[in-house]
Amino acid sequence: MQHIISFISLGCAKNQVNCEQMMAAVQAAGHTIQTEPEGADVVVVNTCGFLASACEEAIENILEMAELKKAGKVKKILVTGCMAQRYKGDVLQELPEVDGLLGTGSYGDIAAAIDEVMGEGGVRPCHLGNIHTADQSGPRILSTPPWYAYLRIAEGCDNHCAYCVIPSLRGRYRSRPMDELLEEAAELSAAGVQELLVIAQDITRYGTDLDGEHQLAKLLRALCKLDFHWIRLHYLYPDEITDELIDTIAQEAKILPYLDIPIQHCNDGILRAMNRRDTKAELQALFSKLRERIPGLVLRTSLITGLPGEGEAELEELCAFLREARIERAGVFPFSPEEGTRAAQMDHVEMEEARRRAELVVDVQSDIIDAYNASILGAAREVLCEGFDGQAQMFFGRSYAESPDIDGRIYFTADQEIAPGTFVTVRLTGTMDGELTGELVEG
Ligand code: SF4
Repeated sequence: MQHIISFISLGCAKNQVNCEQMMAAVQAAGHTIQTEPEGADVVVVNTCGFLASACEEAIENILEMAELKKAGKVKKILVTGCMAQRYKGDVLQELPEVDGLLGTGSYGDIAAAIDEVMGEGGVRPCHLGNIHTADQSGPRILSTPPWYAYLRIAEGCDNHCAYCVIPSLRGRYRSRPMDELLEEAAELSAAGVQELLVIAQDITRYGTDLDGEHQLAKLLRALCKLDFHWIRLHYLYPDEITDELIDTIAQEAKILPYLDIPIQHCNDGILRAMNRRDTKAELQALFSKLRERIPGLVLRTSLITGLPGEGEAELEELCAFLREARIERAGVFPFSPEEGTRAAQMDHVEMEEARRRAELVVDVQSDIIDAYNASILGAAREVLCEGFDGQAQMFFGRSYAESPDIDGRIYFTADQEIAPGTFVTVRLTGTMDGELTGELVEG
């Protein structure tokens, strides 16, 4: 029987790809997908479970759907993704409104689960497949604007940072076969995707589980032969960035000089306690080398304040490191002691103090971003136009220095129509509420 299905996807881009695959599976099974939950037979809430705060957000969404269900506007609720995997028993026990659950090893069962919840007999399915072996391939229905898409090249993580639950939610690191990735990328390119975002929990490790060799550089060179305009890389583990990879990034014009390298902290003792493999000196040397060899490089990282072992001296050390490294983009998070992690068992400051420290680091970063923005005023940048803002009466888009959703936009004026998805040249002239502004140079 055919039904109307609505999806809510929370969390990161990797989760979004899972959602896109589930949508394709549901459509292939003959169901109709609609954006609005109201009026749907089944709402699928694809959750994030990385941090306690993400779980709270997931529960809020589920409860909102439960209200719609009570009002007769939604028939069934299915919960999938990381929080479903992490708190499976609790979700089913504490949230009676939830009609079924699929863990991170069972996305492929979505069509079967819909049949089960919509069938006779009040079945409450709970699919918990093997998270270490679950199939990662499959068609997708893109949920991004038509000009960009994610390519998830691996699943899972073997790094086992002491504060992180991901390895227990997503399983061992598994690279997808290169021919499968190139086929999927070719389809994305044929569909008109201009910007390909290569993602995984750790893209630098790609290939090491296939034949023992790092193969990211090889994969990127093959992707560059396809018809993409930009290729952007997210989540590189510092100590696996090989010289071959740096050369490939430097030589291939399509690979953007924008690298997302989460470091979390710079203090040697903290890094060691967190099971990270770098030292401050190695990170400093890496960033200098990257800047030297990749002209115009923009760096992004993520940082955690209040980690076990961080006192005022270590916090100041982090701020000094950032002032010196001048990393242009950073996500700053207060340490969250996650149930089941080793870091949660170690001595650490209260959340409130971790938040205060995060604000301090954000202030340091704001100065770095202001200085960076000032340094590029007057420059002409290639910008991918993404739309027109009626309130600002300006077009907006992104240059190589802005990744979608996380880095803000460039607003610009133009005396001609510009279709979203078009590349234009914009001269940067100022800032507006922290975002860069400029004017069209050529269409
Ligand atoms: S590299 Fe560390 S922080 Fe990132 S997903 Fe793997 S275990 Fe978690």
